[in-house]
Amino acid sequence: MAQTVFRNVAIVDGSGAPPFRGEVLVQGSRIQEISRTAGALSAPSAEEIDGGGATLMPGLVEAHAHPSFADTPDIEALGLIPPEEHTLLTMKNVRVLLDHGFTSLFSAASAKPRLDVVIRNAIDAGDIPGPRMLAASPEMTVTGGLGDVRLHHHHRESFAVIADGADEFRRAARHFVREGVDTLKINPSGDEYVPSARAKHTVMTDAEVAAVCEVARSRGRRVAAHARSAESVKMSLRNGVEVLFHATLSDAEALEMLEAAKDSIFVAPTLGITYTSLYEAKDHGAPPPADVARALEHELALGCDNMKALRRRGVRVLPGGDYGFTWNPIGRNARDLEHFVALLGYTPMDALVAATALGAQLMMRGDELGQVREGFLADLLLVDGDPSKDVRILQDKGRLLAIMKDGQFHKRPPAARATYAIAAE
Ligand SMILES: [Zn+2]
Repeated sequence: MAQTVFRNVAIVDGSGAPPFRGEVLVQGSRIQEISRTAGALSAPSAEEIDGGGATLMPGLVEAHAHPSFADTPDIEALGLIPPEEHTLLTMKNVRVLLDHGFTSLFSAASAKPRLDVVIRNAIDAGDIPGPRMLAASPEMTVTGGLGDVRLHHHHRESFAVIADGADEFRRAARHFVREGVDTLKINPSGDEYVPSARAKHTVMTDAEVAAVCEVARSRGRRVAAHARSAESVKMSLRNGVEVLFHATLSDAEALEMLEAAKDSIFVAPTLGITYTSLYEAKDHGAPPPADVARALEHELALGCDNMKALRRRGVRVLPGGDYGFTWNPIGRNARDLEHFVALLGYTPMDALVAATALGAQLMMRGDELGQVREGFLADLLLVDGDPSKDVRILQDKGRLLAIMKDGQFHKRPPAARATYAIAAE
């Protein structure tokens, strides 16, 4: 079995423990041995990597990825992309994510029914490079909800699936489970960019959410919800949704309910898209209209207060920022860690833990992924600098000296750092 040994590295293991100098031996797809003593690991046939003091850390997990989004200024444009081009684009995006250190991604919706599924399968088969991936359904929404881009006398293809009533949601959920998704995505709340359903509006009914959750439970799948309004958070929790995106407008009762469910749920606020829509979209010629800007400002402020409260209450809050739009493009995903530090008061180390060990729990592999630990899967980054002091380093892919997934290099370290040992004859 192939072996790689990293020597002369500072290990940030993902647990939150302080960095320590050491060596790590990878055998096959897993971390075989870790030593804190230089030269202690004997691996005569291993490829030797001299880290030169660089940091070795777990690969990053993106908790709200849209691998099939196309960095367009709006969601309407997604429906216009033909499936052939869209498949290639998604294939490119997952590579971009891996190039930027994301070795796992939790998809928060596919822009066409089977895009996530075929890309996940191709990655798993080793046919294309990409992160470990949990595939989502398209967004299941209601008439007039986020994702319903139809208008009378104006034909437009939607990236979402529109259903009304429990029966239609049940049918849609069963359909996507049949097609192989890991996660069913629903849109119980609106969004500031949807005039007919703003963020504070709750557009699905309990019966509709319950129908999707019932299908998920019966087939061993999970439901993820776009839930900005307080009521949509409560509705999601009442019915067994386990992944809550946004949860930004939660009220006191919603916070109580989130805390009560803390062992089974995850929250990803998606700070990236809100922040850039508010402050940077104007640089791309698309400033939000004044009323939207006011609402986004309120949502960002309240959302940050709520995330701080949820963290104090022991809820797992994860970085993942809805990258996939013109002013919040795919590849910049690591910026969400900076938002966690700047806006939520995380230490850089705590942000790293959220993006690695906690992210692995979201991937349902917390016992073998997301930490530099013996026996764990070898998804590793060799980073020039110490991201436990400054997470912004991770936004510069030039400082990712090596990217390993499953024990194999996606990006090899610079030649000067790698030497092949000659096995003793
Ligand atoms: Zn999203």
